[in-house]
Amino acid sequence: MGKTFLTVAETRDGKLRRIALETIGAAKLAAGDGDRIAAAIIGHQVAPLARELAGCGIDRVAVADHPELASYNPETYFSAMTAILDAVRPDAVFFGHTALGRDLAPKVAAHLNAGQISDVVALEQDGDGLLFTRPLYAGKAFEKRRFTAGPFVVTFRPNNLPAVETAPDGQAEVTQIPFAPPADLRTVVKEVVRKASGKVDLTEARIVVSGGRGVKSAEGFAVLERLADVLNAAVGASRGACDAGYCDYSLQIGQTGKVVTPDLYIACGISGAIQHLAGMSQSRVIVAINKDPEAPIFKVADYGIVGDLFEVVPLLTEEFRKALAEGDG
Ligand code: FAD
Repeated sequence: MGKTFLTVAETRDGKLRRIALETIGAAKLAAGDGDRIAAAIIGHQVAPLARELAGCGIDRVAVADHPELASYNPETYFSAMTAILDAVRPDAVFFGHTALGRDLAPKVAAHLNAGQISDVVALEQDGDGLLFTRPLYAGKAFEKRRFTAGPFVVTFRPNNLPAVETAPDGQAEVTQIPFAPPADLRTVVKEVVRKASGKVDLTEARIVVSGGRGVKSAEGFAVLERLADVLNAAVGASRGACDAGYCDYSLQIGQTGKVVTPDLYIACGISGAIQHLAGMSQSRVIVAINKDPEAPIFKVADYGIVGDLFEVVPLLTEEFRKALAEGDG
């Protein structure tokens, strides 16, 4: 009998997050003949998004829709997940390696008595099983792992697996899963406070312009924001910059911050400490701008510019603006 892969679709501001389409992409790579793919969507008033998922070339969409699910709460979401797991009975559950996935996946794995592999950046068919690749030691090495028994749970790092396209006339069966919030909730979400300006979601951005202690002040970050605006990029930061109060901790990239894998990462005034590299070294192209030619960031950079960021970044901004306006970009 075929296996059932269940992907957990994340939403933000009434839209599917790109990682939702990437986890389905991962399930498509994993599924063989006779296997089925289902997507779970949890939230409030998510019917249009469930229809979008139904157009992803999958078999089923399981929907838990309730006002209490409007914001992520580990207790309500786990309760909704258990109802979905009972209905779908998956052999594998795929999450994004996001704040939600990192929190919910281990609970689901424990509930299913399943193994879990986290922070996967690639997957391949291997005989009658699957091989999952994940980075180790801040991306200095990779390991390949496989499960010896099911069911299993996997979290995928954003921006690594191919996202599926959605088509308007979805064929997947959409099932409403009855959900009642647990009576004895220990926590409730009172309010969601947005700190980052969040024009572009940092963890899903294709381009990140990141600043370190070399940016020297909160006003200095305006220089980076201008470059980010031109490139439609997200702004990130080192912990050095966050600790110095130049920007909010929600921008921190690294071991104790966010992990990003953009196509282009532009590091400005960042020395390249191992804890920072842990969050960005898997970026496809890394550009480093630093006054110090010996800065360790140059060891991981594809392109290095030795110079003062306050001279280099405005020049880059102007050149990108011109090139993109001419359609050369
Ligand atoms: P610095 O190391 O001070 O580097 C500033 C750089 O700017 C220098 O290389 C300098 O040459 C350059 N510079 C100065 N002026 C200019 C200019 N005008 N133009 C161009 N370049 C200039 N760090 C993280 O980033 N993320 C984490 O998640 C993280 N987690 C940590 C967890 C633990 C347990 C610990 C112990 C540390 C962690 N750190 C983390 C901190 C990390 O070790 C470094 O201290 C931090 O990354 C340094 O930030 P920085 O590169 O901005 O600052």
